[in-house]
Amino acid sequence: SSKNRNNSKKNNFVHLKGESYINANFKFLVDFRGDYKNQIFDPNVPIEHYSILRVIVQKKISCPICLEENLIAPRMINCGHCFCLTCLLRFSSNNLVSLENCKNKKKQCPVCHYKVNNDLILPVLIDSTFDERFDLPKPNLDCLMNLLIKPHNSILSLPISNNPNFKKLTNIPWCCSSHDELNNLSQEIYPYTRIMKGNLNFIINQYKLEKSAILSQFNEDLLLYRGNKAATDDLQLYVNKAISEIDESIEIFEKKFSIHINNKTYNEANSYFYYQTSFKSNIVYLLSSFDRRILRSLFVSYGNFPSNILIRIQNITYGEILTFENVIREYKYLSHLPVGSELAFIEIDWQYMAKNCKTNENYIKLPSNIYNEFKKEIINRWKKNKDRYYREERNKQNAMKSLEKKTKDFYRAEN
Ligand SMILES: [Zn+2]
Ligand SMILES: [Zn+2]
Repeated sequence: SSKNRNNSKKNNFVHLKGESYINANFKFLVDFRGDYKNQIFDPNVPIEHYSILRVIVQKKISCPICLEENLIAPRMINCGHCFCLTCLLRFSSNNLVSLENCKNKKKQCPVCHYKVNNDLILPVLIDSTFDERFDLPKPNLDCLMNLLIKPHNSILSLPISNNPNFKKLTNIPWCCSSHDELNNLSQEIYPYTRIMKGNLNFIINQYKLEKSAILSQFNEDLLLYRGNKAATDDLQLYVNKAISEIDESIEIFEKKFSIHINNKTYNEANSYFYYQTSFKSNIVYLLSSFDRRILRSLFVSYGNFPSNILIRIQNITYGEILTFENVIREYKYLSHLPVGSELAFIEIDWQYMAKNCKTNENYIKLPSNIYNEFKKEIINRWKKNKDRYYREERNKQNAMKSLEKKTKDFYRAEN
């Protein structure tokens, strides 16, 4: 298990598992658009899963499934153990078959038996060049010690010899160039920081390297298993799965980052961002606050919202009026409107859009981790809307019928 790996002193026992263990033991390359206020305030708060671009593992590890020392396209599951992507895919599907009869039973990590959450799998960057063994101080040897400086309000601590500009670096510094297709992390900062920002090029490049590593390993394996059709078919199956999973990640990241911010002057700290439609109407048509929350989770900050979105409407709620109270409480972004304005809130049909995103590519696609985060509320709202829709349809039909009857009765009476 993952507990007490870190602590040799008896009195200093800290029991960490899951995301707290991962938070304490690895470095993180994160989406540069997040604000990470919680982590800056408290280093024990794990970073939101969707903001992590790569977990960085600074040691040589081997895959517990294939026992290879060079993990290919490594992925970390939620206990902190790492596997090759193809090994993990094969493991997941094998286990599913044996657990067919107990659907709710989660798969367990083959090493520590921690319950695997498929929505919390993270891509890993293994940096085995950064091996502590070559850098450890030893008795009877000389040792050069660096003076580090950490301003009171900073979570960043750097050697003073680097002449750091903390204001420019900010608490979460960049660690890969924002322009070049660099595959290297900035050595000036990387060794000293725990959380660093990454950009699209770096991430896409990582995925591309993984794809070619998977394919060249596949070619080697083909030679090894030459003539064994069952084995090569099986290899092919999981290589295909892994490649298409990587392609999907690339697509998600490209979409997520393409929105990026032509104008950084306006951001969440100094502006409100909200969607509105039907500008000819007296009613102000807005997006429901629940859907705003989902979009914020997807785009990390309101300031990254795309300039327009195509959605499928599930329901519109009418009848809310802007008041002195709710403009302060909920609708700060409408403080430019007079009290008394009539508001209508549009609710998005996420399920419809997920089903039809292949035929209409302009629909916003929710990655499964974000969908699952809101799944319960999305389904509850859908049920409520469906019930209301049918009730209203029934009432309408009843009203029509009684009107017809009245008309008939009227003519009968006339004649
Ligand atoms: Zn493996
Ligand atoms: Zn484990």
